[in-house]
Order: sequence, then structure tokens, then C-alpha cells
Amino acid sequence: RAKLSGRNRMLSYTADMGTSTDLAFNIQTELAHGLVEQQFRVYFQPKCSLLTGELVGAEALVRWERPGHGLTLPGLFIGLAEKCGLLTELDHWVMQDALRQLGEWCQAGLWTAPMRLSINQNVADLQKPDLLAQISGLLHKNALQADLLELEITEDALLEHTPEQLARLQALRDMGVSVAIDDFGTGYSSLSYLRLLPVSVIKIDRSFVASMLTDDNDAVLVRTIIDMAHDLGHSLVAEGIETLPQRERLAALGAEVGQGYLFGYPVSAQEFAVRWLPCAPAP
Ligand code: C2E
Ligand code: MG
Ligand code: MG
Ligand code: MG
Repeated sequence: RAKLSGRNRMLSYTADMGTSTDLAFNIQTELAHGLVEQQFRVYFQPKCSLLTGELVGAEALVRWERPGHGLTLPGLFIGLAEKCGLLTELDHWVMQDALRQLGEWCQAGLWTAPMRLSINQNVADLQKPDLLAQISGLLHKNALQADLLELEITEDALLEHTPEQLARLQALRDMGVSVAIDDFGTGYSSLSYLRLLPVSVIKIDRSFVASMLTDDNDAVLVRTIIDMAHDLGHSLVAEGIETLPQRERLAALGAEVGQGYLFGYPVSAQEFAVRWLPCAPAP
């Protein structure tokens, strides 16, 4: 039955292939097949306190064990999945698998509040009336409190939000789920616009982290974003921290949380538990 629906999707995609190259089309048929065959994996990257270095959470990042190609990164397939209508299903699978894993870690006492797991949420699915029921159903099924979950939504996608999407974000917040704006700084949000968004976390894009020590304008921008986030009562996560000087500067500017290769790469659930969860704060 699952196989059949996978095939239907491929067929329905053929109808509006548009200008896609053969290569892209091949990947798309493989994607649909990969969903049916459970070829996707959720990896976890640590998020750490910039002050103490202690683990404060993780981001779930999807990977594809693509036959003949090894582990494939989302940059290659998220956009294609979106184009051929598979991203909803892929994101749902990621949420399901990540929350199942989080439930296991919580049961085992390895993961405790206030640590949070962040999951990337495509903005289009905020339009789905049943998204909240789906999320609360998965939280309930895995015996998880809503405040263990954070959704990351990219800033550029949010720029063209609908009133329904904002209402759904607010409802998620009311439920206790945190909402973060991902890749912040790349989408040209204005301060007044930011005030309208029911979010609690700003995640500054890694391009600014990469350039802030060498580019004075970007340094000013980073400082401004951090101050602005704090003025609005949001906390700040810096992504893509690769060096100690970057970490130190961001900490000095008041950013709370960091994520990046300096702390740790995204790794499989097993590896994450071995490397990171023994360091979790005692309950
Ligand atoms: P993102 O949400 O901004 O995730 C952070 C990306 O930066 C990840 O790339 C991560 O591996 C990478 N990264 C982390 N630290 C460093 C660092 O120190 N240096 C550098 N150069 N990169 C670092 P990844 O895993 O390839 O994911 C790329 C993007 O794909 C994500 O960006 C996110 O927008 C999207 N994505 C990943 N998983 C999902 C998912 O399950 N659903 C959806 N809708 N999007 C996803
Ligand atoms: Mg993210
Ligand atoms: Mg990001
Ligand atoms: Mg990013």
C-alpha cells in the first residue's frame, strides 16, 4: 500500500516536470522511493551554552542514505522534495523519528528539560490545519512535554507568511513549543516585522558568524541583531561556529547558545548519545 502511494506520487510529478533536468528527475523518483524504503536518517548536532560549553539541546538534521551515493546532505534534496510535493511527508517522517528518539532518551533519563530538540519545519506546512494535532499527538505518544520541542523556520520563508501561518505559530507557542527563526539576517526582516512574529528564539545565520571577525559591517550587524533579539525578549543562537575566537566574540556580545563544528558535527543518534548525552545536566 505504501509502495503504491509512492508510485502515485512519482506519476503525478511527471505531469509537471517543467524544466527539471533528467538528473533532478532521477533524484526525485529516488526520493519517493527512499521514503517508502525508509532510507532517511535523523542526525543530531549539539547546541551548547556559549558561556559554559554545556549541552543545552540539539538540532535534528535529515540525511539520506542514498543507494550508490552514500550519506547525502539535505542541500541536495530538500529543494527537490519541496518541488515535487514530498517535503510534507519527509518533514513528517523526520518529526516522527526525532520525537521517537527523544522519547527514548527521556525515558532513559539521558535527556532532561530544559534541554530542547530543534526540528526544521518548512513554512508551507504551517498552512496545514492538522499540523498542531499531529505534533501534539506525537508528543503525547512519546510521553514528551511540549517545552522539549523547538521548531526552526527559515526567515526568508517567513517573509511571505499568511495570517493562518502566524496564527498557527502562536498556537504552537501557546502549546509550549518554542519557535525559532532560522538563518536570521539573510531575509532582510525589519524590526517592526520581527515584532509581529510569535517566536522566542533568533538563530543568526552562519554567514555572519563566518565573517564577523574580518568584516566590520557584519560585526555591527551581528551586534545589532543580538541586541534587537534581546530587546524583543528573544534568546539568541549562533549557528556555524567553527573557531574559538568566534565563540568568544559571540559570548561577549551576549549570545546565549552556539552550534557549530567547534562544538560538534551532526552525528547519528547512537553517536550523539555516546558523545553527548552522558554530559547532560543531572536531573
Ligand atoms: P539549517 O537548519 O540552518 O541547519 C544548519 C546547517 O549548518 C546544517 O547543514 C549543519 O550541518 C550546518 N552546520 C552546522 N555547524 C556548521 C559549521 O560550523 N560550519 C558549517 N559550514 N556548517 C555547519 P545540513 O545538515 O546540511 O542542513 C542544511 C539545511 O537543510 C538546514 O539548514 C535546513 O534548512 C535544511 N534541513 C535539514 N534537515 C531538514 C528537515 O528535516 N526538514 C527541512 N524542512 N529542512 C531541513
Ligand atoms: Mg535549522
Ligand atoms: Mg540555520
Ligand atoms: Mg543555515
